[in-house]
This record gives sequence, C-alpha cells and structure tokens, in this order.
Amino acid sequence: MAIIEVMNLRKSFGTVDVLKNVSLSVNAQEVVAVIGPSGSGKSTMLRSLAYLEKIDGGSIQIGGGFLAKDGNYSAAPKVKEITSRMGMVFQHFNLFPHLTVRDNLELAPRLVKKLPAVELRNRASELLEKVGLLDKADVYPANLSGGQKQRVAIARALMMSPEILLFDEPTSALDPELTGEVLEVMKQLAEEHMTMIVVTHEMGFAREVADRVMFMADGEFIEAGTPEQLFDHPQHERTKAFLTRVL
Ligand code: ADP
Ligand code: MG
Repeated sequence: MAIIEVMNLRKSFGTVDVLKNVSLSVNAQEVVAVIGPSGSGKSTMLRSLAYLEKIDGGSIQIGGGFLAKDGNYSAAPKVKEITSRMGMVFQHFNLFPHLTVRDNLELAPRLVKKLPAVELRNRASELLEKVGLLDKADVYPANLSGGQKQRVAIARALMMSPEILLFDEPTSALDPELTGEVLEVMKQLAEEHMTMIVVTHEMGFAREVADRVMFMADGEFIEAGTPEQLFDHPQHERTKAFLTRVL
C-alpha cells in the first residue's frame, strides 16, 4: 500500500499551468529521486504535498488520508494531522537566524507537540549527535557552514518524527566540497528506511540511493524507473536530452 498517492494533480500560477496531470505513488520506505530541468514544477509538486501550495485539482493521499480529494481540501484538523506526517528540507535551509541550533530544533515540537522540556532536550541532543553536530548546539546559524546548516535543518525536520521526508534540492546552495556531508546524512536516513522524495541535481546520489528515479519536464512526469533504467536506458527523447546535458 502506497504511503503517498497523488492523482492527477493540477496547479496553475495565474495563466501558467505549472503542474498538468501529475500522478505519483510512493511506497513506505521507498526513496524516490525527482530530476528535471529548472522550472519544470518539481518544487511546486513537493510544496503541494507539504501543503505549502494549494492545488487546483486532483487528489493527494498521505498514509491513507486525503489532504485533498478532487481539488477539495479536507477539514483543518485532518489537514494538520496529515501534514504532521511529513517533514521538508529546503534548498536554503530556512533556519531561524535568531535562535541557536538547539532552539531551532526544539521550537516546533515545543509549540506543536507540547513535549516536556527534558524530552525535547534529549531528543534534540540525540538528533544533533546523529548529524554530527552536537558540539554546535549552542551556536547560531550564522556561525555554521552551509553543510552544517543543512544538517541542522534535517535534524530539525526529524524532531517532529515524520514518516516522510521531502527534500527540495538540499545541496544546490552548497559549495561542492560541502555536499558530501549532507548526502551522507540523507543516505543514512535511506538506510534506516525513511520514506523520502528527493528533488536533486546530484545524479550520483540518485543512482546510488534512490529506489526509483522520476524525470519531470513542463509540469509532467515524463518517465520513471529504477536508476539503471532511467540513467542507462532512458526511453524518451526529452529524458535523453536532459541526461546528456547533466551527466
Ligand atoms: P522547479 O522546482 O522544477 O525549478 P518550480 O516548481 O519552482 O520548478 O516552478 C515551476 C514554474 O512555476 C516556473 O515557471 C515558476 O516560475 C513558476 N512558479 C513557481 N512558484 C511560483 C509562484 N509562487 N508564483 C508564480 N509562479 C511560480
Ligand atoms: Mg525547484
């Protein structure tokens, strides 16, 4: 049974149809990499899943519950319950600059889950340890490298105990020498069977870590398959043209 089921999703900005008829099914514990040219709708698709954009039509089902069905959103408590199953990591980290690393981690679960302080503290320490940044707990984001910021952002997303993590080009803003440490954390999450959708330009990562790679262009999924199928035996001309440019 799929944990994410998207059917015929449509989204326009003004007169531009950004997502045309997007369907996507992701199984629990699956890692799906989404690749495609800039402007093809990848971010909008992820943001729609996370309820950061409102769709115009189609359905989004998460863990069996409808976020939206035939373009109509579920009632607020249901939406809240469904969105709480997902965490998102952005290209530009989106850390709170005025909060320390530890406070960045603890803020949302304190407000939303109302967990006791000791529990929050322990969990934050545990997750900072996991991403190799326990020694940075009391530092402000401005004093971290890009790779460290992104690892904090991942730890922060994990604080809410999501079942699904959505990554939107998590290494695109990083200097090349800093991408490895972030990809390593993501790889570890994949090995721990986190369900992940990763929009990425890191073809090496997609090939190595993804169970399935999906190619998006002009607001539609053009082709999907295992990394071997998609990278070594692409079927569609547009996929071939894209891969020729990026590989
Ligand atoms: P990608 O992530 O694949 O680069 P996006 O989802 O960011 O693509 O964008 C898809 C298209 O939607 C682009 O043409 C972009 O300019 C447009 N778009 C994205 N967000 C907005 C917005 N908030 N308002 C208007 N147009 C947008
Ligand atoms: Mg994008």
